[in-house]
Amino acid sequence: MKKVVKFGGSSLANAEQFKKVGNIIKADESRVYVVPSAPGKRFKDDIKVTDMLLHLYATASEGKDISEEVKAIKARYDEIITGLELKDFSLDKDFEVIEKIMKENPQRDYAASRGEFLNGKIMAAYLGIDFIDAAEVIFFNEEGNLNSYKTEKQMAARLEKSPRAVVPGFYGTGKDGNVKTFSRGGSDVTGSIVAQASRADVYENWTDVSGFLVTDPRIVPNPKPIKYITYRELRELSYMGASVLHEDAIFPVRHCGIPINIRNTNAPEDAGTWIVESTAQKTENVITGIAGKKDFCTIFITKAMMNSEIGFGRKVLQAFEENDISFEHMPSGIDTMTIVVHADEFMHKEQSVVSAIHRLAEPDSVEIESGLALVAVVGRGMKSASGTAGKLFSALAAEGINIKMIDQGSSELNIIIGVKNDDFETAISAIYKTFIK
Ligand code: ASP
Repeated sequence: MKKVVKFGGSSLANAEQFKKVGNIIKADESRVYVVPSAPGKRFKDDIKVTDMLLHLYATASEGKDISEEVKAIKARYDEIITGLELKDFSLDKDFEVIEKIMKENPQRDYAASRGEFLNGKIMAAYLGIDFIDAAEVIFFNEEGNLNSYKTEKQMAARLEKSPRAVVPGFYGTGKDGNVKTFSRGGSDVTGSIVAQASRADVYENWTDVSGFLVTDPRIVPNPKPIKYITYRELRELSYMGASVLHEDAIFPVRHCGIPINIRNTNAPEDAGTWIVESTAQKTENVITGIAGKKDFCTIFITKAMMNSEIGFGRKVLQAFEENDISFEHMPSGIDTMTIVVHADEFMHKEQSVVSAIHRLAEPDSVEIESGLALVAVVGRGMKSASGTAGKLFSALAAEGINIKMIDQGSSELNIIIGVKNDDFETAISAIYKTFIK
């Protein structure tokens, strides 16, 4: 059994949290590869080290004095080092190098990545295992995306030499040879890559919640945690705004069927959530999760005899393509077609889209409406249960919510409904109450 364990910033915010992490790793011998984030917030209004570093970069690139900011960042690490009583360990030399580079040639990604780099060094010293600089084993291509082929090869070869090691999260080397980071929250992706390259049995992702919740706790107080969720269900929910894991963290492990277990550093006894390729575990409820987003626009197009005009849909979509807008949904009727888009992508280009639709597809009319919210009700259990849609619509009707759009893919994994922005929270609460027992 081999496990890769990734710890988020709040799990490593200070020495006390570090000790919890140490205990978790020591409690299970199979936890052989450790991927740390940078120190996160110690209290509500605290500043994450990554944000301090980004600020440092801004100051340095304006040519201003950075010594105070470097001192403040160093203090965060020294607090951890002292708290862990690491006697013969110091980051003084590393900070000298960082300060020099930031003065001479400040680079954003290099600055941002130092949070993980330094935390990884502390972690390796604390655990007494090897430190592997992520810049030597993670590579990006010309477009700035992960170069999976090169990364997997080099990472696997390097891990083979170290049966136990720390690999800091969040960064690698860009095509130009400079340090490059993933987007924010990217240590999740590093963990997934390490799990894939080492062919781990489990990728444990330790955070500060006991798993993935059925819905947003800001809308429904204390929602239940999800025990098992498939990659596909998770993808649907994250796309619609639910966030626990970085979106790109699924791909490397999914590729080789490694399950992800989301766990809570502050409550290690909780089982957390299992994210798996496929499972025969019954969902307790037909629905696995509910997520949603506000602020979509609909473009409603009519044309008599549209149904028999071959190529009409393509012409309409071309109008969106020409304006570089991706569409979310496209429910259609006999002589009508509706395109749902993100308001922020569409608003500033609306007239250009409308004229393009007229030019390309010659419709009878085009009407635009804003203020639509989409709610995704996701569950692998829906396939084998009947009456889900009926229950869903009754729940919304009972709250007096008008449904403006419905979309169910033939995979029967999710039902998407459109409601007014103002009805968004009520809709989610009503669906939760109806389905989650
Ligand atoms: N430290 C980085 C961030 O704050 C990456 C991470 O924590 O995953 O986004």
